[in-house]
Amino acid sequence: MTPSLEQYRSIVGDAVIQHLMQLARHLRGLKIVHVNSTSEGGGVAEILQCLLPLKKSLGLDVSWEVTSGDREFYECTKKFHNALQGNKVAINNAMLSHYEKINSINYERLKDTLENADIVFIHDPQPAPLLRFCADRKGRWFWRCHIDASHPYRPVWKYLRDFVTLYDASIWSLPSFAQNLPHPMYVVPPSIDPLSPKNIDLDSSDLKDVYKTWHLDESRPIITQISRFDRFKDPLGVIESYKLAKKFSPLQLVLAGSGANDDPEGAEVLEEVELARDNDPDIHIIVLPPDAHRKINALQRVSNIILQKSLREGFGLTVTEALWKQKAVIGGDTGGIRIQVFNHHTGFLVNSPEGAALRIRYLLKHRDILENMGNKAKEFVRENFLITRHLREYLTLIISIMHNSKERIILQA
Ligand code: UDP
Repeated sequence: MTPSLEQYRSIVGDAVIQHLMQLARHLRGLKIVHVNSTSEGGGVAEILQCLLPLKKSLGLDVSWEVTSGDREFYECTKKFHNALQGNKVAINNAMLSHYEKINSINYERLKDTLENADIVFIHDPQPAPLLRFCADRKGRWFWRCHIDASHPYRPVWKYLRDFVTLYDASIWSLPSFAQNLPHPMYVVPPSIDPLSPKNIDLDSSDLKDVYKTWHLDESRPIITQISRFDRFKDPLGVIESYKLAKKFSPLQLVLAGSGANDDPEGAEVLEEVELARDNDPDIHIIVLPPDAHRKINALQRVSNIILQKSLREGFGLTVTEALWKQKAVIGGDTGGIRIQVFNHHTGFLVNSPEGAALRIRYLLKHRDILENMGNKAKEFVRENFLITRHLREYLTLIISIMHNSKERIILQA
């Protein structure tokens, strides 16, 4: 069941709820549309699944459209993704034409909605060209980039930039990701929903089920990484870290993930992971359906330490989810993980499997420190990375762009 706005009050306090209601009053009657390329799998879908109901519960007229594509299209957009995160990729003109053609088909399907919207949020590169087809636009369009684009592969960025330039504004997760563009650029880090099945408190029977389903041993520590099977998430590095740490203490590793509809590389990476597992019965590779939110919640809760050993990371919602569950996180020293994991406070940042193994050993040996970090972690997320803060920033942006940031906006109590 969708949580109501009132249910957030006890988690974030009266002032936060009051502020959201004040902001929303100024936006009633506007048509707001979000567009992305997948309804499940990955962080963007995760956020939209939570954000939309909350906006609706504030009385806003908001909808979510998902574009479609074929294998060739997703192969191209995955290359874009990898290129924005710094990989040199080869993309030929035929792929680019196909990318644009699929966008024109999606545009025809979504034309009425997009042309009549007052505010449009286009997420990531997959649907970025939609605006080019919209000759008759009524509303203001934001391009929302969730990717670590701080050091993009230039030829690909140069191509995408032509589409992105057309937008009224762009939104980035970290200041260092923002590229030089001729429009206002905003920084809005992502967030988690504390009341979603992924994050809600569970009772002990859910946790027992997890031990039973995947034959996990309650008496030995568990370290876990939840991620799509993607090379930037470094699952092989996680296995290496586990193997090094296991030489010193008994340990189990859970690597759980699913594919996203718009990610064609997953199967290949999963094969590499299976190979690296090398039949170790204490490495649990768990492939989940995309809606296994409660199961992921429980896996995170039964873990002693959460790893997110990414080599590049737009934000890392899995980190936020873990911190909210009072888990210290050992994370790759990159992108959005850096604004969530603070050494000795909410976990440790690492740059190698050796570094990760060292920190695993340290935390398992100092359980009081581990617990202390977990407690800090939850409060840190409450202050910074809950969906209510995210929503407040989106609403403020909409108000600001509707008023061209010129007028003073008087909020009435
Ligand atoms: N996730 C999931 N099932 C999986 C793997 C991941 O539901 O098998 C969720 C995960 O809990 C998180 C999101 O997908 O909410 C991943 O977001 P993140 O920002 O960590 O990474 P992305 O996949 O967007 O790169």
